[in-house]
Amino acid sequence: MKEIYSVKEFQKRRKRAFKLFLPCLTLMFGSLFAMIFGPRDVEIDWVVYGLAGFFVSIGAQLVVFLSIYRCPLCNTIPMLTEGSILTGSYEKGIDLAPKVCPTCGARLK
Ligand SMILES: [Zn+2]
Repeated sequence: MKEIYSVKEFQKRRKRAFKLFLPCLTLMFGSLFAMIFGPRDVEIDWVVYGLAGFFVSIGAQLVVFLSIYRCPLCNTIPMLTEGSILTGSYEKGIDLAPKVCPTCGARLK
């Protein structure tokens, strides 16, 4: 019962995270577009606004992921780990399709 809950809840969070991810991506590419193709002969410096938008969108993406993309049971972010008992595991990045939570072992898929 607990396992089914974690799968359902995590997939819901995953969907929500990706849905919020889309406008961030749009803003990121919009900023890049404004930076490259924005008018140069006006008072507004599009390069500055483009850069600002670009970094804001990257920050927003991180915030979205770090706040939503979490295991429903232990509330940690599923990270990709690599290594063995000999080398020790280290964090490599966020796992975008985790089967089980690396921290508590709850089923996520
Ligand atoms: Zn967990």
